[in-house]
Amino acid sequence: MSQSPFSTLALNADLLKNLESLGYETMTPIQAESLPHVLASKDVIAQGKTGSGKTAAFGLGLLEKLNVKRFRIQSLILCPTRELADQVGKEMRRLARTIHNIKVLTLCGGVPFGPQIGSLEHGAHIIVGTPGRIEDHLRKGTLNLDDLQVLVLDEADRMLEMGFQDSIDAIIDQAPKQRQTLLFSATFPEQINNIARRIMLDPVMVKAEAKHDNSVIAQRFYKVDNNEDRMIALRLLLQQYQPESSVVFCNTKREVQEVAEELSNRGFSAIALHGDLEQKDRDQALIRFSNKSACILVATDVAARGLDIDNLSAVFNYHIAHDQEVHVHRIGRTGRAGSKGLAFSFYSGRDTHRIALLEDYLDRIIEAESLPSYDVLDKSPMQSSMITLRIEGGKKQKIRPGDIVGALTGQDGIKGEQVGKIQVSDNWAYVAVQRDTIKTAFRKLSEGKLKGRKFRVMVVRG
Ligand code: AMP
Repeated sequence: MSQSPFSTLALNADLLKNLESLGYETMTPIQAESLPHVLASKDVIAQGKTGSGKTAAFGLGLLEKLNVKRFRIQSLILCPTRELADQVGKEMRRLARTIHNIKVLTLCGGVPFGPQIGSLEHGAHIIVGTPGRIEDHLRKGTLNLDDLQVLVLDEADRMLEMGFQDSIDAIIDQAPKQRQTLLFSATFPEQINNIARRIMLDPVMVKAEAKHDNSVIAQRFYKVDNNEDRMIALRLLLQQYQPESSVVFCNTKREVQEVAEELSNRGFSAIALHGDLEQKDRDQALIRFSNKSACILVATDVAARGLDIDNLSAVFNYHIAHDQEVHVHRIGRTGRAGSKGLAFSFYSGRDTHRIALLEDYLDRIIEAESLPSYDVLDKSPMQSSMITLRIEGGKKQKIRPGDIVGALTGQDGIKGEQVGKIQVSDNWAYVAVQRDTIKTAFRKLSEGKLKGRKFRVMVVRG
């Protein structure tokens, strides 16, 4: 399937000729899987990352449908960041270069409105933009979606992560009900399924990458004699594999606290999560972990249950779970979306019975592996890639994610791609930024204004 030429598709001759001149000979897997449905005007949910050829997977569909003589906005592509929107805009222009008089317009935040309004007055066929700015244009009445035929949500997981849900909802409210909706995402947290259910009609699911299954998880077991050995084993493996985000499962709250403290004392970026924490600390712990400002979450099963944390680089079973299903559930949080996961479990002589049950359940022999050499402990522990900033203002002060991105990325600011997850609550907001941009980010947010006002900003540390 992945070797099919584009000529097997019902595409117009100009588009085919252009693909040939671009050197696109055969379809990438995501193109081969999704284009037939896209061209059949179906709603499509597709799993694909940047670099997979996803722009052409939706782009050729909307170009094929487009009537260039009708100078109205017929397609809207929503992207999480300005950089991605620019990239998608460029690729769309390349794909469309044999269609005369076609106008692709990019509309992103962080730049003045005036020129964008001017361009909109001249008209366009395809808009590529970020949700906050598109919503603003709709509110001002400078953008009209009455003739929209195709709506694309590109990197939908990232848009939701950045807090664009409300903006996306507001945009969809103004789009015609009769339309084609295409959703591309690298991962599929529950939020994506929810939005898909609300805005799509009988969508076709396309997965060009292998879905998570146990074979993409490397499960390793280590025999330890006591808790002291356990901690050393944990440190050795953390140092050896340096997972960007991992969960250490413990069987009791007390153990969670002890393990998290010990790891933090040794310089690891670890936080504790258990039911005895105050709500605010719990929220903050989850925010920091999910936005990559902490690498290790030490948790009980109960505290981790139902939380939207998957896609972990590694899972540690500090003690073997009491139940085999719990074990499988724990390790299932690693290795999703086609990436290989790591699951490390520690057991002692007292766990013989549990190990036998697990061997039965997993249908495999469990053998103890050897731990990495102690040399790895000489390195300093890995730091988180991001740092969290807390803003003392939120929805009630009319702050939206787009305002925060705008304030961070304006003149002398940081780049859109250096901004991570944004969460806005009623009276506060959190934003993650790349570690090496923290000074600039802090300055931009604390010296600059959001919605014309200054807000107190602080760096959240462990
Ligand atoms: P994307 O994932 O859409 O960002 O595309 C990644 C890169 O692959 C872009 O530079 C495209 O120009 C290129 N590309 C997309 N589809 C094909 C194809 N079928 N054959 C060769 N290159 C492609």
